[in-house]
This record gives sequence, C-alpha cells and structure tokens, in this order.
Amino acid sequence: MALACIADTVVTLTDEAQLDTFMANYVEDVEHRQPLFVLSGGSNVLLPAQLNATVLQPQMRGINVTAQTDSYVDIEVMAGENWHDLVMHTVAQGWYGLENLALIPGLTGAAPVQNIGAYGVQLEDSLQYVRAYHLPTQTWHQLTAADCEFGYRDSLFKRHPNTWLISRVGFRLHTDATKVLASYGDVQTVAQSYAKQQGRKQPAPADVMHAIIDIRQQKLPDPKQLPNCGSFFQNPIIPQAQFTALQARYPAIVGYAMPEAKMKVAAGWLIEQASLKGGGIAPIITHQQQALVLTNHAPYQATQDDVAAAQRYIADVVYQNFTIQLSREPVWVNADGSIGYDEHEV
Ligand SMILES: Cc1cc2nc3c(=O)[nH]c(=O)nc-3n(C[C@H](O)[C@H](O)[C@H](O)COP(=O)(O)OP(=O)(O)OC[C@H]3O[C@@H](n4cnc5c(N)ncnc54)[C@H](O)[C@@H]3O)c2cc1C
Repeated sequence: MALACIADTVVTLTDEAQLDTFMANYVEDVEHRQPLFVLSGGSNVLLPAQLNATVLQPQMRGINVTAQTDSYVDIEVMAGENWHDLVMHTVAQGWYGLENLALIPGLTGAAPVQNIGAYGVQLEDSLQYVRAYHLPTQTWHQLTAADCEFGYRDSLFKRHPNTWLISRVGFRLHTDATKVLASYGDVQTVAQSYAKQQGRKQPAPADVMHAIIDIRQQKLPDPKQLPNCGSFFQNPIIPQAQFTALQARYPAIVGYAMPEAKMKVAAGWLIEQASLKGGGIAPIITHQQQALVLTNHAPYQATQDDVAAAQRYIADVVYQNFTIQLSREPVWVNADGSIGYDEHEV
C-alpha cells in the first residue's frame, strides 16, 4: 500500500543460522528487547507510521529438488523466493500445480500464512510441509499440511501472528501437462486461445498461467504503479433472509450460496452500488475499474490513519445503504507490531 512507516530495527535474515544467533541474544537482552514482527514482501500489511518493534525479514533464497519420479517432483523453496517467479520457474520446468496462483504478489514464506488462493486453487493443494521457527520457544519445527490447520485464507500462522517464522516450504508438484484447472471464471476462453496459438487442442498449464496473468493484469492495478493491497474488503456473509429482502430491492445483487442458509455477497458490488467507485477519502481511493481495491495516491506520504479514515467512510456508506458491515482483508499492524484483524479496532 506504500504507507509511510519507520521501524525501530530491521533484521534481514539470509540464512537460518542468523535467526538462531539473533534469538539467543534477543532472549538474553530482557531490558532492551522489543516485540518482534515478521515481514516478507509487505503486500498484505497496513503498517503504522511508527513501528516500535524489531522487524524480522526472512530473505533466504533457494529452490531445491528433494525427490523426483515419473509423475511428481518434490521441491523445497526458501522463504525469500518471490512467489510469482517461483510459479513461472516451476511451469517452465514442467512441474505443475501452482500455475493458477500466478501473479500473486509477495514472497514464498508468507504464502502459507493466508493459504493463498486464486482461480479454484489454494496453496494447501500442493503444500507438503513447512519448516518454521517457533519464536516463543526458539525451536525449529517441520509442520505437515495438517499441522498448518489451513482454512479459507486462513492457517495456524495467521491465527497466531508473530509466533512462527516460516523459513522453507515443501511442495509436491505433478508432471502431467494434461491435468489443469482451466474452467474457473473467464480463464477457459483466454487459456483456450493461448492453447490454439501453440497448436494445442487443450490448454496446458503454461496456457492457464498466461491466461491468468493476462486476466489479473486487466482486472487489478499493479501495486508497483498504483499502490494497493489487492482486495481490501472481505466478501460479507449474510443470512439468506436478508439477501432475499435485498434482492427484492436490487435484482442485480451478486451473491453465492453458503452453508447454513447464508449468502456470500460481492463486496465490490456493494461498494459500486453505494456510488463509491472512484470514491473514498483522498489520497485513499477505490479503483475506477475495481471498487474492491483501495489505492494510495500519495505513496510513502499517506499513513495508516488515512487508510483507516477511507475504510471507515466506505464501510459506513455501505452500511447505510445495505445494513451490511464490511470487514477489512489485509493485515492491520499496530504500533507495537501486534495484529488487529477487526476493522472495529481501527
Ligand atoms: C494486487 C494484489 C493481489 C493479490 N491477490 C491475491 C490473491 O489472488 N490471493 C491471495 O490469497 N492473496 C492475494 N493478495 C495478498 C498477498 O499477495 C498475499 O497475502 C501474499 O502471500 C503476501 O505476501 P508478502 O510476502 O507480501 O507478505 P507480507 O505482506 O509481508 O506479510 C503478510 C502476513 O504474513 C506474515 N508473514 C510474512 N512472512 C512470514 C514468514 N516467513 N513467516 C511467518 N509469517 C510471515 C506477516 O507477519 C503478515 O502478517 C494480493 C495482494 C495484492 C497487493
């Protein structure tokens, strides 16, 4: 989001042993030590203007093949590897399973935190294990996918922030180029046209990946050019009865059926209907093409307070129109490095 933020101390970790050394000193230094905050690419965090914490930045690099058969390849990826570059690399090698997760910003070590997902695929579909350091006990652990307690955009790591530092992620990828998920949304048509250009009848994983890159580039502003943190609000889940009443007033309302007589409503649609496309409180404005994305028009000048003001305004207007409370999706970081997930804490 390119918010102005100064941290007291930043510790860049380029190998795992550095963390052991740092933590040995940290636990001894009872008088001066500050809370710890783990930061990777910074694409999913809203940082405070002053961060009174010691920031740990895992930047270990490396991609290693740990096992290979005719049908699969096991790889171990260090936390500091750029996620999109990893996806491109695996597809180029003929190792498949990550192609639908192309162009998600950030580093590999952060990917398990919210079990990143897109176009019908989630990280947990190919993740085998995570190697992580448990900060409170200063011990290394290998966690299986089950240990990570993955849910929809959720995991053990997200529920216990600044407790684990992920240093490696193990994946099992397959080598069957005919096994692709190309049916999701508008991917099919674009992937098919890529396949046709390559003289293929059916899309291969590379076609799906390129289709997804195209679609994402059209739909979402590039954070490097116009700072943003992707979808800013979660799609709210409301009772079926409330949805039916809204549908009578707004026949075009977009919703998806959920268990227990609930409906998930498209937050972007609500914001647009509340006439907030391109609205907000300057310099934090919703994107002209994608109302769900808040953009920062004053990079490294705007602060977390500006984001809070815009969020509150948009959520209030949506509530006045639809009696639906919007919740924030990115991670709100407090001045002491702790995490505030609830928008009501803003
Ligand atoms: C334009 C845009 C599009 C996006 N699209 C998607 C999408 O389609 N699907 C999706 O799931 N997400 C999406 N996101 C969100 C974001 O890309 C992911 O959450 C990504 O995994 C964040 O990576 P990062 O390295 O930037 O993490 P950061 O923002 O640095 O950190 C995110 C959280 O993870 C913790 N963390 C980071 N690294 C570690 C580590 N090594 N060990 C332990 N904890 C750690 C941090 O403390 C923080 O709480 C999008 C974001 C943007 C800006």
